[in-house]
Amino acid sequence: MLVVMQSHATEEQVRAVCDRIESLGLRAHPIPGSNRTAIGITGNSGAIDIGSLEAMSGVVECIPVSKPYKLVSRDAKEENTVVRIPTPAGEVCIGGAALAIIAGPCAVENREQAMAVAQCVKKAGAHLFRGGAYKPRTSPYSFQGLGEPGLKILAEVRERFGLGIVTEAIDNESLDLVEEYADVIQIGARNMQNFSLLKRAGKASKPVLLKRGMSATLDEFLMAAEYILSEGNYQLILCERGVRTFSEHTRNTLDLSIIPAVQSRSHLPILVDPSHGTGRRSKVLPLSRAAIAVGADGLIVEVHHDPDRALSDGAQSIIPEELEELMKEVRQIASVVHRTLN
Ligand code: PEP
Ligand code: MN
Repeated sequence: MLVVMQSHATEEQVRAVCDRIESLGLRAHPIPGSNRTAIGITGNSGAIDIGSLEAMSGVVECIPVSKPYKLVSRDAKEENTVVRIPTPAGEVCIGGAALAIIAGPCAVENREQAMAVAQCVKKAGAHLFRGGAYKPRTSPYSFQGLGEPGLKILAEVRERFGLGIVTEAIDNESLDLVEEYADVIQIGARNMQNFSLLKRAGKASKPVLLKRGMSATLDEFLMAAEYILSEGNYQLILCERGVRTFSEHTRNTLDLSIIPAVQSRSHLPILVDPSHGTGRRSKVLPLSRAAIAVGADGLIVEVHHDPDRALSDGAQSIIPEELEELMKEVRQIASVVHRTLN
């Protein structure tokens, strides 16, 4: 259920409606928009008696939301959400006219490696630095990430290069630490339906980057996002990273058609990860071009200065020169789709 307020409704009127909703044992989520505020209601198992709400001052109407997701829906908020990420070098926005490029290694391997890649990422003009300190690996014998020492290295990258940090939390414990160090908390594909982790991310004070599960439908993806918003964190960025199919010429099949589908249903920004989406270095640039052309709000891409020696995902990591080329080509395509690349 959504309560739509008049465009000139006062803060007191919005608060009074929220108080009434809460007094019914439900949760109120005021969603300010440029034209009007809507108040999402969650926590109800059945129909809500809308009569008393509709009669309140400042209320235009109550609309039942038929979709399973509410707060992520465009019904709740017509205009695009812009996630604002404060970094030492200024604010990075994801979801506005300017595209955002997040680049860095799959994993933080050691200090020298992280600094070497970060220098290239900075030089190429990418906006945020990615790198996992906690790695969810298929094999328990593969490199699992450095843990907190890895986060400390990321903090050094942040300090030295002024780049905001995007790094993954794999469970509630690591999320506590990631929240302290990161500018954006990544929830990986394997955890897209780890509901306790989603709830914890929804209580976090930092923006979240939620990757699509490798077999998740669009509705499942948006419902996972709904978990995070329903806990109060509206700073959410979605990310398409490929799904499992019968195709074996790539690691995953990058489902670029989900971009316009998400955009028609949701106000949330969506990025594309062409690295995990293809698993092949040679496919990263062509799929990056396509992602921007189809309307993605940016890219998250793996880069390594010495990919043959990378401890994870070397085969899909582009080299620094390729990142520079990618930035150049993305800039050209951006203007065709009325976007910019700063
Ligand atoms: C990653 O970004 O390194 C990662 C593990 O991604 P995904 O969760 O999409 O597999
Ligand atoms: Mn990776």
